[in-house]
Amino acid sequence: MNKENMKRKKSKEEYRVRTHLIHGNFETKNWDYDHHINPPMSTSAMYRLSSAQRGAQGFFEFANETIDETRDLPIYIYDRLEEPSRCMLEENLAYAERGEMCLTFATGMAAISAAVCSVCEQGHEIVAHPVTYGCTYSLFHNWLPRFGIKTRWADVNDEAALQEAITPNTRVLYFETPINPTLTLVDIAAKRKLVDEINAGRPAEQRIKIVVDNTFATPYCQRPIELGADFSVQSLTKGISGFGTDMGGAVVGPKSYYSKMLLYRKDFGGVLNPKSAWTFLVYGLPSLSTRFANQIKSAYHVAKFLRDSPKVDKVLFPGFDEHPQYEVAKRQMRNPEGKFSPGSMIYFTLKDAELTDGQQHPRVERFIDYIADHAYCITLAVSLGYMKTLVENAYSMTHAAMPAEEKLRMGMEPGGIRLSVGLEDWHDITDDLRDALEHA
Ligand SMILES: *Cc1c(COP(=O)(O)O)cnc(C)c1O
Repeated sequence: MNKENMKRKKSKEEYRVRTHLIHGNFETKNWDYDHHINPPMSTSAMYRLSSAQRGAQGFFEFANETIDETRDLPIYIYDRLEEPSRCMLEENLAYAERGEMCLTFATGMAAISAAVCSVCEQGHEIVAHPVTYGCTYSLFHNWLPRFGIKTRWADVNDEAALQEAITPNTRVLYFETPINPTLTLVDIAAKRKLVDEINAGRPAEQRIKIVVDNTFATPYCQRPIELGADFSVQSLTKGISGFGTDMGGAVVGPKSYYSKMLLYRKDFGGVLNPKSAWTFLVYGLPSLSTRFANQIKSAYHVAKFLRDSPKVDKVLFPGFDEHPQYEVAKRQMRNPEGKFSPGSMIYFTLKDAELTDGQQHPRVERFIDYIADHAYCITLAVSLGYMKTLVENAYSMTHAAMPAEEKLRMGMEPGGIRLSVGLEDWHDITDDLRDALEHA
């Protein structure tokens, strides 16, 4: 029996998000896979076009805004244009992020560049928070200026600085929340209010769009569009994947950008590999809620352990009421059922381990090297949101591209340690940390 015709007491929409992400959309107009428990993996670079007329129709319909949404199955032509595994993932991600549409990309960086380049043209400006993922910083700083897109860096939590950075040419306000790696938060609803006030005096095509990098939180902990963002971008490589096997990125946003971004993706070419789309669809999204619920519980225990350790100085975790923006955290970091979900990331520093000249204290290096050499369940590696606990020194590693004075100004310490809490038993994580702290 076709699932669509099944007599269900509850409509699909009444099921909880966690259940929905396990069962997907039940049906898709992109493909008939009713007889599979899991969607089959499609891996075809090109598609048979049974007639010249069908071929012409496919090209006519691709990214064509005048095509009725209720049309039959899309005419697939070539992987780089549209492809069923990816389309199914996009439907489910749009649902998880509570957005109108989603487009996926080869990596998080491909998604971020597509979002800002679909909004900005030559002469336009981006206002961005100076602490961003290192490659985002490099993209905005080194590459976009070559295409006439300038970035003004402003602490988005400093209203005066933000107002000053915004000019008539500003088209994008870009930030992460929680910010990588310091776990500073940005109140998305407050930025919406400010941008709305500025946009009120502008014609539609000149309005500023808010783009939020949701990689740290994932849609399990936070849905930026519900909170007021125009676009939510993220690296699927991190929390959505969870298993560290594949790279990907996603943009979720208004339907009005779908065709433009689809054309951008076709021509710049950063499409998500369908095999990776399939792993996100079959393993990543269905396990997201369970993984994060458990990782958050462990993060509380690990953060408490660090806070109580005499060897540790500062611990930043949005779940602690001493986090300077705890009120913002409680308001915007919620799982789809409304439960406070402060994520699985912790940032901390060691006692008496900061040098005033911006250099890393040897104790921090000893601590990290001890983990690399001795810890069983903590791995020295970049990335985050993975089922295995990961540690890194953001200052010298993921944020190496940022100028030192900017890092120091924005509260990043050379010895700051970023921990992404995994799915191990938390006692084992704290045991490995205790051991390393004793030897640091
Ligand atoms: C990893 C990461 C990205 C980039 O994603 P890739 O998939 O590695 O290209 C962007 N933003 C944040 C916050 C990240 O952690």
